[in-house]
Amino acid sequence: MNSSYKERIARRLTLVTAGIFFLVFFLIYLVASYTVFDSIDRELQLEIEEHQEEFFIHEQTVRFLHQGEWEEMEHAQIHLNPIFIEVVDLEGNSLDRSPNLEENHLVFSSNYRSQQAWQTTIGRLELRQRQVPLFTSGKQVGYLLLAKSFEDARKLLNNLRNILLLIYPLILVTLYFSMRYLAGKSIEPLEVISQKTNQITQQNLNERIPESGTNDEIGQLTKAINNLLGRLEQAMQREKQFTSDASHELRTPLSVLRGTLEVLIRKPRTTEEYGLKIKSVLASIDQMSAIIDQLLALARVENGQNLVMEELELIAFSEEFVDKIAKEKGYQIQFQSHVGVPIYVRTHEKSLEMILQNLVENGFKYSSVAGVVFLRVGRNERATIEIIDSGRGIDSVYLEQIFDPFFRVQEVVDSGIPGTGLGLAIVKKLAQESAIKLSVISEKGKGSTFRLDFNESS
Ligand code: ADP
Repeated sequence: MNSSYKERIARRLTLVTAGIFFLVFFLIYLVASYTVFDSIDRELQLEIEEHQEEFFIHEQTVRFLHQGEWEEMEHAQIHLNPIFIEVVDLEGNSLDRSPNLEENHLVFSSNYRSQQAWQTTIGRLELRQRQVPLFTSGKQVGYLLLAKSFEDARKLLNNLRNILLLIYPLILVTLYFSMRYLAGKSIEPLEVISQKTNQITQQNLNERIPESGTNDEIGQLTKAINNLLGRLEQAMQREKQFTSDASHELRTPLSVLRGTLEVLIRKPRTTEEYGLKIKSVLASIDQMSAIIDQLLALARVENGQNLVMEELELIAFSEEFVDKIAKEKGYQIQFQSHVGVPIYVRTHEKSLEMILQNLVENGFKYSSVAGVVFLRVGRNERATIEIIDSGRGIDSVYLEQIFDPFFRVQEVVDSGIPGTGLGLAIVKKLAQESAIKLSVISEKGKGSTFRLDFNESS
């Protein structure tokens, strides 16, 4: 069903309240009926106590202890809450009855229970009746039948029932509309939030939903959406920055390339001049292909979601890596490990290899020719690999930025050390994807230590 939230709240609350009210009203009616019946039954009991001793039966005729009183009593009247009395013999044959019964008789029950009253009628009059045995000289000779009008009590009970039946739907209808109104009022802020959220697009991502200043659920929702918008805005800005940085980085070697070729084409040159210019052109092309390769690598890491982690023994893996990189690239790394037992970690092997390769290359690139690079495997609280160099180091102000795409320390650029500024961005992404914690300690002029912390497999 496509009903609104406020209607659903109102309907559910009304349904629950309907149940509660039904129970309460039912109980009220029950208690009222019980009280009315009980009070009439008690009155009947009093009448029985009053009259039981006044009658005695002698030779099938009723005699009275006080004949005058009997005739004057209220039983002669039929209105004003009258009491009806009839005396019957053991078979139920009427011997005498109060004049207010006129030609009617009270009901005789052969299997009566003397303590219990029951409902009966004479004509259209509803009665509450009891039946008690009559004794003469210790011998049961008949029954005394007593009844009291139930009209007033019935009227009272009927009135009560009608009032409750009338109030019940009225209360429910009032309740439904009040609940609907209140629910509507309380979700108004949600409507504002959804309206405002719908208005926010890529163009006005800097806008925020007005916060109410309270810390209730609505306030928390507003904050959560605003935080999400903040994160989205930052991500968009990073994306824009990345695209503009990438274009800029590619445009620089392209301009050099174009400039060199334009100069070359202007007039014929000597073979030496051609050789020099072509070398510069090739350097620009190398620079561009390095950037493109790194960009592709970064894109692959960003797209390669859910890398499958596998178990890997860190010491053997690192020794193999050191041998391999020495053979392929000629890097002479010093391997160190004081741990005598195998260290098993869960990570992604190919990613770890790329991370180490990037860090080791940087270690050599930013050290003097005679510099040494160490690869140290250790185990403190966690299993670790450290790539330690004693090169130029990094100023502490740049320690955060070196992981941003295209960031290069200006001094490094000025020194003409080749690079794209993408290597550490790739390392950071790879570490995130492979459950490795990456950190760096560096001191300018003294060297840097890049540290990888692993989750050990149990
Ligand atoms: P690239 O090496 O291509 O410039 P990276 O992303 O690998 O790009 O490194 C970013 C910057 O961080 C480098 O330009 C350099 O300034 C600094 N850097 C990285 N590794 C080291 C290191 N081992 N020693 C000193 N500086 C480093």
